[in-house]
Amino acid sequence: MHDASFEFFKALLSTPSPSGFESPVQDIVRQFANPFADEIRSDRHGNLIAIRRTTNRVDGSAPRVMLAGHCDQLGLMVMHIDDQGFLMVQPIGGWDIPILLGQLLTVWTQKGPIPGVCSRKAPHLLSPDEKNKLPQFHDLWVDIGVKDKKEADSLVQIGDAIMAQLGFRPMRNGFASAPGMDDKVGVWTVFETLRLLHNQPLNVDLFVVSTVQEEIGLRGAATSAYGINPTVGIAVDVCHATDTPGAEKKQVGEIKLGAGPVIFRGANINPRVFENLVLSATENNIPNQLRGVPKATGTDANAIQLAREGVATGLVSIPNRYMHSPVEMVALQDLVDSSRLLSAFCQRIGPETNWIP
Ligand SMILES: [Zn+2]
Repeated sequence: MHDASFEFFKALLSTPSPSGFESPVQDIVRQFANPFADEIRSDRHGNLIAIRRTTNRVDGSAPRVMLAGHCDQLGLMVMHIDDQGFLMVQPIGGWDIPILLGQLLTVWTQKGPIPGVCSRKAPHLLSPDEKNKLPQFHDLWVDIGVKDKKEADSLVQIGDAIMAQLGFRPMRNGFASAPGMDDKVGVWTVFETLRLLHNQPLNVDLFVVSTVQEEIGLRGAATSAYGINPTVGIAVDVCHATDTPGAEKKQVGEIKLGAGPVIFRGANINPRVFENLVLSATENNIPNQLRGVPKATGTDANAIQLAREGVATGLVSIPNRYMHSPVEMVALQDLVDSSRLLSAFCQRIGPETNWIP
């Protein structure tokens, strides 16, 4: 991985961005994109859009290409502070509750970050009934070590966001683990593509977007795609790797960490976008994996495809283990290969490319 790009990736992972609280991470994205974009704008929803204009200005017919990665990640929200100063929370996005118990957390308050832990009663004190049933959000709490409610009130405001402890953790074989790999890997990939295309000829107008609020309903992709009005849109997100114990290959196919970007097929994907992605991979010896989805995907690709009168949409995914947990794991080479794939795609297409299925 290119040095400055690696620093960018680590900064993305270390910056909290629960859905609805994305501006700190958008500042990191803006800083990275600045040297490679002709224009950068933020919309009223909080999406950040970097624009790279075509180098072929002859007839003004360049297709508009949108590349999107969502910068928001899962978190918790403070709903209530009880009489002893414990924080009662609800999820921002789809957590698997048992995975939260015992986690080190950070409460991101107006006055700065405060360390916290997520817990419930000790196992010795649980009734047999409680032991056997799945804990719910009202069974757990966040302890920030305050003496009483008064102290908690002086620090924490209702609606503050809480995150798992952030940070990049390198693993063996070029793997890495962190909360929020979903979808900081996607943001990284689309903005790395912008870097790779710097000073390269381009027959499209490129709109690289760090979208907001994907985890609570693909919201930033909907507003940014409407604003950009793209001809072609590609979302980059994570997908389930099935190279772990118990993973169901029969259900989602065989997807491995380190075996390259995953190119999706199905109703959510325009067949011409799919073909051009596969050809871009083949022509440039980029390893890749295929995955079929027989319905709308749960990604920004869904919102992008349905913008205005319809957008020729693609989906490229980074294989990810342990999705929606604080230990999401990816292979760094898959990110690098995904950005190579997208830059080859952007250079392969132009005004003459047909997008009608
Ligand atoms: Zn995602």
